[in-house]
Amino acid sequence: MTRNKLDQPVTSVKGIGEETSVILAEMGIQSVRDLIHYFPFRYEDYEIRDLADVKHDEKVTVEGKVHSEPSLAFYGRKKSRLTFRLLVGNYLITVVGFNRQYLKSKLSIQQSVTVTGKWDKNRQTISLQEIFFGPIEQQNEVEPVYSVRGKITVKSMRRYIKNALNDFGEWIEEDFPTTLRQKYKLLSKKEALKIIHNPKDRNQLKQARRRFVYEEFLLFQLKMQALRKFNREQSRGIVLLPDKERLNTFIESLPFPLTGAQKRVVQEILHDMESPYRMNRLLQGDVGSGKTVVSAIAMYASFLSGYQAALMVPTEILAEQHADSLSELFENTSVNVALLTSSVKGKRRKELLTRLENGEIDIVVGTHALIQDDVQFHRLGLVITDEQHRFGVEQRRVLRDKGESPDVLFMTATPIPRTLAITAFGEMDVSIIDEMPAGRKQIETYWAKPSMIERVLQFIQKEVQKGRQAYVICPLIEESEKLDVQNAIDVHSMLTHYFKGSFKIGLMHGRLTSDEKDEVMRAFSVNEIQVLVSTTVVEVGVNVPNATVMVIYDAERFGLSQLHQLRGRVGRGQEQSYCILLADPKSETGQERMKIMTETNDGFVLSEKDLELRGPGDFFGKKQSGVPEFKIADMVHDYRALEVARQDAYELVHSSVFWESEEYEKLRDVIISSGIINGDKLD
Ligand code: ADP
Ligand code: MG
Repeated sequence: MTRNKLDQPVTSVKGIGEETSVILAEMGIQSVRDLIHYFPFRYEDYEIRDLADVKHDEKVTVEGKVHSEPSLAFYGRKKSRLTFRLLVGNYLITVVGFNRQYLKSKLSIQQSVTVTGKWDKNRQTISLQEIFFGPIEQQNEVEPVYSVRGKITVKSMRRYIKNALNDFGEWIEEDFPTTLRQKYKLLSKKEALKIIHNPKDRNQLKQARRRFVYEEFLLFQLKMQALRKFNREQSRGIVLLPDKERLNTFIESLPFPLTGAQKRVVQEILHDMESPYRMNRLLQGDVGSGKTVVSAIAMYASFLSGYQAALMVPTEILAEQHADSLSELFENTSVNVALLTSSVKGKRRKELLTRLENGEIDIVVGTHALIQDDVQFHRLGLVITDEQHRFGVEQRRVLRDKGESPDVLFMTATPIPRTLAITAFGEMDVSIIDEMPAGRKQIETYWAKPSMIERVLQFIQKEVQKGRQAYVICPLIEESEKLDVQNAIDVHSMLTHYFKGSFKIGLMHGRLTSDEKDEVMRAFSVNEIQVLVSTTVVEVGVNVPNATVMVIYDAERFGLSQLHQLRGRVGRGQEQSYCILLADPKSETGQERMKIMTETNDGFVLSEKDLELRGPGDFFGKKQSGVPEFKIADMVHDYRALEVARQDAYELVHSSVFWESEEYEKLRDVIISSGIINGDKLD
């Protein structure tokens, strides 16, 4: 078999010698093929725009005629400022360049130049970043910018790739199915690659991007959908068939009617449980939307089918709370609920494990302690985990494989934008509770400047005097846990001093041991502590219905979804609750974010906004989020393509033509080489 010329080493490209090839190799570029698939991470925009449309501080390129002799001023030791007037259409603006004295002799009145830089609308000034002598035609409207290293510059990278495309471009083969290319009128790979590296204009670039975005999303979704399909087919799950009448009696005995959304997700879950496949479902619902009740119904259904159920939560205190509320819900049934955490030790633990193993316990609530080796179930039918968005795809798989073959339901209170849900959790089914129980009081949210702290403290005092409690969340310092803790300690002493012992101020932070944390939370939950000063460790779903005030310092440093989570700690009881954001954001987006917090209580609206403002990488606040990195596609802006690709991937993996015809061989290879269906990961 003759190897494709593209597989030759990069040194066969004009201009690339041994030395350069070493650096390229570090960047993951070894063959000519690698080089031409090295996509720009952004484009420099030289599109000429009308200054009237350009916002303050935005970058712009304009074309004009030099209108005044450039003047040069020196200041400091070696610094200089060059200023000249530029006539742009009817505008007379100023151009300022720093440390560019060499330009003075090159510029003359009436000369045509193209200037790129930041537009200061108030001063009608562009601060110069780039200048071309002459009109723009000599220049592409957009130029690719590559991430580079070592001696390789963006300019040399552009040259290498250009040479590679010139000499090897003919060898680029199409490997994407014709059917799909025709369906969406996608450019050929050859055309698209040439444009990606050397677009004439935005429009052309858009077409080329469209091809790669779709391709990238489709490949990703094919893996997800294939994984989903094979999980289903290869994991014969348990068929759980609850007595419908008894189940309904239980639902009707609840102290409230289910919301429409709760009814819908209960049906979705029951449907999975009854099917012979193993359930692998994500249940999303805002804080307070009633997920616990839904999980209780699912666990009751498992009990009625003769199986045990386990509910796993991240902290001990949450486990206790859940165990309590479940015991209450099951009060009039014969269900036995038990609590298993690391505090359950010795003889009690042994006894509990025995009862679990011989099936006397129907529902067990606990922490990670639940999935340890010595915990044996009699007949485990259903595993539910709460707040599980902290794990990635791989961890989810491991967790699920711990059990025999139980149905698995994951719950999260972080509303995840749909685009993220179908990428980060693409291999799962998703149920959403998008409706709040009726009559819920909205939390009133205010945005206050830090200078108004005195009034905020008076407000806390007033509420506490009414018998309520308050949280005060301290500034978040991402780089340093130590400073985080110090902040909390400082705020704690400030408040202690301010309230002069009239009530008790508690302190919670990540340096406490888990026993200490539990003790603080316990004291707060029984109102032994009235004001709880805390770092964000309080974020995870603890329920203290008597707390009505949430004050958040430096609120602009948090993501909207995180602020919403924190806010969800209040508003859990009958009383009106309040959230006060202490923030003084300087940027426009920062101010916009504070404003939107005061305007909506809808977690999904906020999460979409958050994703838009901060991007997917930051969304979960942690690296290990299971959100894939795309080379060219952007989950937020290309979400329509993502939806289309997902649907197509679903249809493809469920069609026989995909698995049989030659046309799809390359796509099949992608799935197979990812190890999804070779059996390794599944049996
Ligand atoms: P989540 O776990 O989603 O944060 P919970 O299940 O803890 O929410 O429910 C929050 C509160 O709302 C609980 O006090 C619960 O009893 C109540 N609740 C749940 N569903 C309903 C409903 N359909 N109508 C009225 N109240 C409800
Ligand atoms: Mg909950």
